[in-house]
Amino acid sequence: LIEELFNAEKYQMMGQLAAAISHEVRNPLTMTSGFLQMMGKGSLHAETLERYRKHAIEGIDQATSIITDYLNYTKPAVEEARQLDVQAEIASLTPWIAPLAAMSGIEMRIYHHHDDPASFLGEPKKLQQCLLNLMKNAIEAMPDGGTLTIATKKTELDQVSITIADTGIGMSKMQLKRIGMPFFTTKEKGTGLGLMVVISLIHVMGGQIVFSSRRGQGTVCEIRFKLSDTAIARTGTE
Ligand code: ADP
Ligand code: MG
Repeated sequence: LIEELFNAEKYQMMGQLAAAISHEVRNPLTMTSGFLQMMGKGSLHAETLERYRKHAIEGIDQATSIITDYLNYTKPAVEEARQLDVQAEIASLTPWIAPLAAMSGIEMRIYHHHDDPASFLGEPKKLQQCLLNLMKNAIEAMPDGGTLTIATKKTELDQVSITIADTGIGMSKMQLKRIGMPFFTTKEKGTGLGLMVVISLIHVMGGQIVFSSRRGQGTVCEIRFKLSDTAIARTGTE
């Protein structure tokens, strides 16, 4: 009986993961489709055309890596952790997020409250997937525009902190309690799988994640990772 229960649970989890894959893969493919459509508009500068072409390919690459990532996610052996520079990781996502933000009339602000690099041990694709999901949620919470603020800092506890803040619709206490539960969504086309995956990936990488929110005012998500030793040493000499 125990084995049967175990199997039932496992299959349910696999079904959720399959749903999550299609959800997450749709975003970059939609962007690819958008760039390909824009390429067909004619009379475009060679440079612009080349930029669109690159973004279109990036979208497909991103979709491929998400699939790979989820497949890895079901296996014990995962992507190799390496030293990540928080500034570079965020910079690599802006070409994806900026057009989405612009479409909703959202101003994007990025602050790094530290002069030197802040690095930590993490798995780059997982981290990017988490940040993308969180920024997308923030953008979706501001359909009539607002400000998306991404800020990084070093904490007293030798951690690197990344906050993603929006000035959107916010969440009630009840909603806040339920985020991250599989299939909890308040969106017409939502799946409620994004944060489930985000929270588990952050934990897999040894990080922490906290949300605070107020209805009608906005939401702040803070992620923390332990700073790697070299980054701590640098803090010491500041
Ligand atoms: P989905 O985006 O498909 O709905 P998520 O797991 O990403 O699934 O989010 C679950 C729910 O949490 C959302 O439907 C929304 O109600 C709430 N939520 C998440 N992020 C925010 C945010 N930044 N502002 C307001 N609500 C949010
Ligand atoms: Mg989401």
